[in-house]
Amino acid sequence: MSNVLVLNSGSSSLKFQILDPKAGAEVGPQVVGLVEQIGETKGHIVLKHEGEKYELTAEIPDHTVGLTLALELMETNGFGLSNIEIAAVGHRVVHGGTVFSGPQLVDDAALEKMRELIPLAPLHNPANIAGIEVAREMLPEVPHVAVFDTGFFQSMPAEAATYAINKDVADKYSVRRYGFHGTSHEFISQEVPALLGKPAAEVNQIVLHLGNGASASAVRGGKAIDTSMGMTPLAGLVMGTRSGDIDAGVVFHLSRQAGMSVDEIDTLLNHKSGVKGLCGFNDFRDLHAHREAGDAAAELAYRVYIHQLRHYIGAYMIELGRVDAITFTAGVGENDDYVRADALAELENFGIFIDPERNKVRGGARLISTDESPVKVFVVPTNEELAIARFALSLVV
Ligand code: ADP
Repeated sequence: MSNVLVLNSGSSSLKFQILDPKAGAEVGPQVVGLVEQIGETKGHIVLKHEGEKYELTAEIPDHTVGLTLALELMETNGFGLSNIEIAAVGHRVVHGGTVFSGPQLVDDAALEKMRELIPLAPLHNPANIAGIEVAREMLPEVPHVAVFDTGFFQSMPAEAATYAINKDVADKYSVRRYGFHGTSHEFISQEVPALLGKPAAEVNQIVLHLGNGASASAVRGGKAIDTSMGMTPLAGLVMGTRSGDIDAGVVFHLSRQAGMSVDEIDTLLNHKSGVKGLCGFNDFRDLHAHREAGDAAAELAYRVYIHQLRHYIGAYMIELGRVDAITFTAGVGENDDYVRADALAELENFGIFIDPERNKVRGGARLISTDESPVKVFVVPTNEELAIARFALSLVV
């Protein structure tokens, strides 16, 4: 029995899956659930099981009611937890600070430490913790494991994690680079060595997680040595709606000259910037359609995106010294062959030879560089739920 319930609890939503990590990625989850509009008068639950969809609209004042109703809906339709035995519950938690460098079995002490980390992720950690509390209450006999978005990057050397700002202030307020999307970067970096036919300890790789949020990482011998996201997920690559790296002086300028409040600047940089801020849409399918129609703003947005991406790829090639593999993942990375081709165009001098035909092929994990290319380039679908389930199971069996 190795089913894991994976819970991703947001402020107004609960996403969950029940899956067996031992069954392999091809098998897929037994149950996929989404509880939305928690806290509003009309909440909504959607479940998927064996190709069937089950829905419920009801008042869902909080996460407890949301999870209770979802589990009841599963039960009345014959696929409840009385039929599916659960070995562990895996919880996604955004910020583990410097306290959690890997998956953690949840007990009262661990939960207390997670509460202490709330100031580092005030918008995310409280909802993650609420999900853990609710699930522990409802499934007290099952072990619960927290998996942190930041965990994989705790291995970064101090020079990569440290910002050159006043040490006393940085220490007092825990200001440093933490990195995010760690579950995806770790999952991908564990899949690639098998594709190369080499042990993970011998592989140097760059992982490009390009979704709506986007981040790059440099991984040496299975350990992260650098990443593009920072103290918060705002830093690094240009994203769907986030600016990525900018001069911090922009914040002072907007405050002084535009009279914007901290919250307004936060909203601007996190939700109204990036590709969307430059051209009005953040879905790359729309972006390409507008580029083809001659939309100059869309063209510039795309170029800015590619420019920043190449900037990080170059930096990580130098940091790693020898690169065995570069891997694209997440919505854009898995589906957008223009981005992949342009991100690695004309880098033959650096040992990167993309095969244009292979790059166009769709599907699962695949090689898109030529057979002779010294640096192998892959597309590998990410699966954060499977990764969380694997981590959770590894701690309980
Ligand atoms: P999130 O960060 O929300 O998890 P995803 O990894 O699901 O995001 O990526 C979503 C993004 O993937 C979309 O905004 C879109 O830009 C991009 N995307 C999805 N499908 C395609 C496609 N066929 N071609 C190009 N881009 C795609």
